[in-house]
Amino acid sequence: MKPESIIARCLMCGKSYDLPTDHKDYAKLAASQSSAPTFICDHCGYRVRHEADEQQKPKKPI
Ligand SMILES: [Zn+2]
Repeated sequence: MKPESIIARCLMCGKSYDLPTDHKDYAKLAASQSSAPTFICDHCGYRVRHEADEQQKPKKPI
């Protein structure tokens, strides 16, 4: 019986996710052979990108 998904914990929100084999990070996590693999979930990845964009915008002078 081969595993069809891998359980990994998000480094940022701490939630555990069941990643399917077609998840973009699946191969990397499976190759790590870690008993507690970690990754950045879609929600946190989006938030990080969004915050990075916000910081690049010039601030309005008050
Ligand atoms: Zn997360």
